[in-house]
Amino acid sequence: MNKEEFKNFGYKFVDWVADYLSEVGKHPVCSPLIPGQVRSKLPSQAPKKGESMEKLFKDFQKKILPGLAHWQHPSWFAYFPANNSPSSILAELLTAGIGAQCMIWKTSPAAAELEEVVLEWLRKMLSLPERMSGVIQDTASTATLVALLTARERATNFESNKNGLKKPLVVYASEEAHSSVEKGAKIAGYGKENIRYIPTDEAFAMIPSKLEEAVVEDRDRGLQPACVVATLGTTSSTAIDPLSPIGKICQKERLWLHVDAAFAGTAAILPEKRWMLEGAEYMDSFVFNPHKWMLTNFDCSAYYVRDPASLIRTFEIHPEYLKTGVDAEVKNFRDWGIQLGRRFRALKLWFVIRSYGVEGLQKIIREHIWLAQKFKDWVEKHDCFELMAPVNLSLVCFRLNDGRGEEDLNRLNQEFLERLNRSGKVFLTHTTLRGKYVLRMAIGQRTTEEKHVREAWELMLSTAEEILK
Ligand code: PLP
Repeated sequence: MNKEEFKNFGYKFVDWVADYLSEVGKHPVCSPLIPGQVRSKLPSQAPKKGESMEKLFKDFQKKILPGLAHWQHPSWFAYFPANNSPSSILAELLTAGIGAQCMIWKTSPAAAELEEVVLEWLRKMLSLPERMSGVIQDTASTATLVALLTARERATNFESNKNGLKKPLVVYASEEAHSSVEKGAKIAGYGKENIRYIPTDEAFAMIPSKLEEAVVEDRDRGLQPACVVATLGTTSSTAIDPLSPIGKICQKERLWLHVDAAFAGTAAILPEKRWMLEGAEYMDSFVFNPHKWMLTNFDCSAYYVRDPASLIRTFEIHPEYLKTGVDAEVKNFRDWGIQLGRRFRALKLWFVIRSYGVEGLQKIIREHIWLAQKFKDWVEKHDCFELMAPVNLSLVCFRLNDGRGEEDLNRLNQEFLERLNRSGKVFLTHTTLRGKYVLRMAIGQRTTEEKHVREAWELMLSTAEEILK
């Protein structure tokens, strides 16, 4: 492709993306295709000769687009959001154009230093403790794995890095913690059997006294407790584990405290939501995802540690081919995580924060929280609906309940959700809370307005009427 062709298609693609974003609401939110339908339209061999961009773009629109879920749809209420925004997309375009590989300071000084600066901005925006230092990881799952590995090394005085793990270590998380804790504990050598799932209270938050009991019990059995993962904003219901009492236990028992705030962390840019971080002074590490609620394209996960020296000691490597003359003076982020190669992710975060400003971001997050409160009120006031968990942020857990037995209610709600999603007008997902099938209304898409939430509610009312007939 020559420069002129590149420009032509570049302009065309930007036009297409701009139109897509303004009209994404016209697509069915989730693809109605069945498994194999996309694959059957694609050749089984790579083309021998290069094909035109014209043809490629046509195929993208005809064969790929109908098989996508539209995460930027204003009626996206599933999982948690994965927002983008115009400024983030433009930064990603620059990042792709430059194609820098930012593994060490030398391979792009601006990328390394911008990452430091932007993560310090973010730290201040969330009011995280001053002594915490940040690095961008790809995902919260990776950040949690990094925390578990560092906790393992600290618990074994860096022996397991050298000689392998000699004695089982135990990790603690609430029964509502994200599955990335289990994945991380398996990979980091704790073993699935050495995860203790701590019971939760009526608000689905970890009960600190149960944590303490479990730690004492494990010590009595000759096991070595090493790490606690607390969650701010659990995936099922955005429950908030109480950091302060959990932190005190960690301090007393000398356990690493990792805090997973993947979705909820963004809300800490609001002064009125900082209560979640009470006890933050006990945290050894903290992660949240600007790629969820802070309008920054996937992937971008902000990971903070209290003691970077332990992190670096866990991950550092010094092959000759990576040595530079400035290693003693700079941050080489290759030693702050698992991968060597790193994308230039700080740029999109910088663009987002500068273009919206802290107040602009706060306004959007407040609006989502307000919309969730409105939706919660509708649910609570309706005889056939039941609220299933406290609404701490912008997620509402609810179900249809006409008084039939629990098993029948589970089936009823499953059918209810399927019908809602089949309409193509909304997309919601479910969870179970104490065995009860629950719908999750996750409000947090950048373009979601009151009318979208109201339309979703009206659809729910009419679907409920049909199904309860
Ligand atoms: N932790 C929590 C609480 C989450 O809700 C999620 C995803 O929704 C994750 C971790 C995993 O995030 P990621 O996809 O960045 O690994």
